[in-house]
Amino acid sequence: MIRGIGLAVLCCCSLGWAQGASPVLKPLTFIKAGVLIDGVSNTARRDQIITIRGNAITEVADAHSVDIPPGSTVIDLSQATVLPGLIDSHTHIFLQGEDPAEGGYDIQLLKYPLAFRAARATVSVRRALEQGFTTLRDMETEGAGYGDVGIKMAIERGYIPGPRLFVSTRAISTTGGYPLEGYAPEIEVPKGVQIIDGAVEARKAAREQLDHGADWIKVYMTHRSWLGKNGELVSQPTLTVEELRAIVDETHGWGKKVACHAYGGEGLQRALDGGCDSIEHGLVLTDAQIAQMVKQGTWLCPTLAIYYEGWASADSTEGQRDRKRASAHEESFRKALHAGVKIAFGTDIGGMPWTEPIAQEFPRMVELGMTPMQAIQSATSRAAELLDMKGRIGVIAPGAYADVVAVRDDPLADIKVLENVSFVMKDGKVFKNEVALKAKLPN
Ligand SMILES: [Zn+2]
Repeated sequence: MIRGIGLAVLCCCSLGWAQGASPVLKPLTFIKAGVLIDGVSNTARRDQIITIRGNAITEVADAHSVDIPPGSTVIDLSQATVLPGLIDSHTHIFLQGEDPAEGGYDIQLLKYPLAFRAARATVSVRRALEQGFTTLRDMETEGAGYGDVGIKMAIERGYIPGPRLFVSTRAISTTGGYPLEGYAPEIEVPKGVQIIDGAVEARKAAREQLDHGADWIKVYMTHRSWLGKNGELVSQPTLTVEELRAIVDETHGWGKKVACHAYGGEGLQRALDGGCDSIEHGLVLTDAQIAQMVKQGTWLCPTLAIYYEGWASADSTEGQRDRKRASAHEESFRKALHAGVKIAFGTDIGGMPWTEPIAQEFPRMVELGMTPMQAIQSATSRAAELLDMKGRIGVIAPGAYADVVAVRDDPLADIKVLENVSFVMKDGKVFKNEVALKAKLPN
């Protein structure tokens, strides 16, 4: 359904209809790219011209072969490196990296009116767009219900600036499988997810969420984690395979996919056996689980950077667990990359404040063995595949939406430059421009 609608939009929007006349073509915009990283090709190209009509890219060609017609808008990025709009496949626009000293996570659900949280989410999405992230897969609202559907609607209708959103609404876990926790049993407190027990409730929750606009279903397959007897990271499993299968079966029937939060162990195994489409985090992956992911085509959405934040002190149990999370994640990432697991860029931002650079994840991926080009592709064409948007986002090529970003320096030489995106276009509209000269050629 969504795909059909999207295609129709892409085809029609480049045409404007004059009254009682044949269709009038929207004016052309030309972007001069000094260096172009197109999101798919393994090498960059020099001196390219990207032709845009309306919200779509119509042509990409060598600069010398393009005749720019008079009256066209030209955006000169000839001193910059141009890339497709970036994609973060794991975000939380309704979280703000809650400081425990200010009430932490719980205060969000217990004391803040939804409108307050929604107002802050509008700031989150704007922050993402400013940093060149033109698409987000948002991985649940943490007690804010279907707020993500509303934010997506406001962006699509042009009321607020923001990336394309793929939303997962409330998410699903089991009794004992998600905060709020630690309150007196006599007091009923809200939960950050929809709680289910049993396959019937599981399927019903998926149906409700899909009915109310979820693009993805998010399931928590593990919850608490601690260090075991031998210092290994252990995670509490949540849903049974039977419960997850009901969700996956239902969701696939709607033509949608299931993302499973899973740290490792039994819960991660159940996620794979239950047929989930993407493993989120995947801190501890055994060789057998990696082989199963390759065989099943399961995506891995690692979130490396966030596990280096907010460690408890080294001599505490929590502190040791925090360090183990980061080191296990590194090892699993390396093994998965080497084995050819499909990897999409994700950050869990919102779990950390939106003031932090989203692109800080790139250098972590490169330190652990990705080439800068692979890291860029994980946030462009690979993420587009995960989202079933191949060829439409995450690429600079004819037929794609005109989501274009630019940086002043060479991200292939230093991936950190992606923290400073100077030009952002989404859907053919310039949102940020700190580098380009924009000129209208005289008629
Ligand atoms: Zn998350």
